[in-house]
Amino acid sequence: MTGRTHDLAAFTTLTYIVATQPVHSISLATGLVAITANLIGGIAPDVDQPTAPFWKNLPIGGVLGRIFDKFLGGHRFISHSLIGVAIFGFIFHYILQILRPSFPHLDMNLIWWAFVVGYLSHLVMDTITREGVPWLLPIPYKFGFPPIKELRVQTGGLVERLVVFPLLLIGCGYIFYTHYHQFLILMHQIGK
Ligand SMILES: [Zn+2]
Repeated sequence: MTGRTHDLAAFTTLTYIVATQPVHSISLATGLVAITANLIGGIAPDVDQPTAPFWKNLPIGGVLGRIFDKFLGGHRFISHSLIGVAIFGFIFHYILQILRPSFPHLDMNLIWWAFVVGYLSHLVMDTITREGVPWLLPIPYKFGFPPIKELRVQTGGLVERLVVFPLLLIGCGYIFYTHYHQFLILMHQIGK
C-alpha cells in the first residue's frame, strides 16, 4: 500500500476507536499530537523501504533509508511483524518518556496508543497486498488475505486507488456520520 492509503487507514481506525469508546476528557494539544503520532505510526513500518514516504521528505533520507533497509533485513521484514510492533512501540514509548517532563499537559498514554493503532493498521492493510506480511517472524511465512495471491491488491495499483482508498474514505465518513453525537461531546470536552 502507498503512504497515502496507510495514513488514511490509520486515521480511519483511530476514528473508529474514538467513536466507540466512552468519551475521555482530552485536550486539543493531546488530540492533535495523537493524530500526528497515529499518522506516523501508519507509515513507520515502511522505514525498511528506501523509497518510503517516511524517508523521501528527509534531506539524506535516501541514504538513511538504505541503511535501515539493510539493518531491518529488507522490505517487509522485522518492522512488518509482531516483533516489530513490540520494538517500535517500545522505542516510541521511550521517546515519549523523555519528552514527558517538557510537555506535562500532554497525555502520553493516549499518544502512544494512537501510534500503535496506526502501526497495526499498516500491517493489516499490507496483509491484503500481494507480498503479504510476515506477522509471526522469526517464522518466515508471509501471511496474506485472501490466501490466493492473485486475488490480493497490488501496491499503488488501480484497485488500491479506485477501490481501497475510496472505501476507506467512505468508511471514515460513515463513522463520523453514525457517531456524530459522540464527536460533538468530544468537541465540547476539548472546548472546555
Ligand atoms: Zn508496509
